[in-house]
Amino acid sequence: MTEADKTTFRDTLLALRHRLTGEVSHLADEALRGRGGEASGSLSNAPLHLADLGTDNAEQDFTLKLLENQEQALTEINEALERLRLGTFGRCEECGAAIPKGRLQALPYTRHCVDCARKVQQSL
Ligand SMILES: [Zn+2]
Repeated sequence: MTEADKTTFRDTLLALRHRLTGEVSHLADEALRGRGGEASGSLSNAPLHLADLGTDNAEQDFTLKLLENQEQALTEINEALERLRLGTFGRCEECGAAIPKGRLQALPYTRHCVDCARKVQQSL
């Protein structure tokens, strides 16, 4: 992987992180509002604890699921950025093989090659 490639992937990851961060705060807002009318107003300055949010209705449940996924993705993005810094970005964590560039372009924060990703999925 060339320095130019790394720069491109870093830019992609940063842009993705920026977008997800915006979506996460929007979803968190929605989840809080969904909790119910007037009462939620006093919560707006409180730190967000997912476990504290009610899951009374399906829509809110869905929003929280989405939020969880997005936060998971954000974690993956941050770790991918860390791997870029360390110089291990683009290597499969399982078998150590270079992850094909096409896969990295589709999923820049992936930590596994296609074969290992499939194995990891199956073992879940
Ligand atoms: Zn692998």
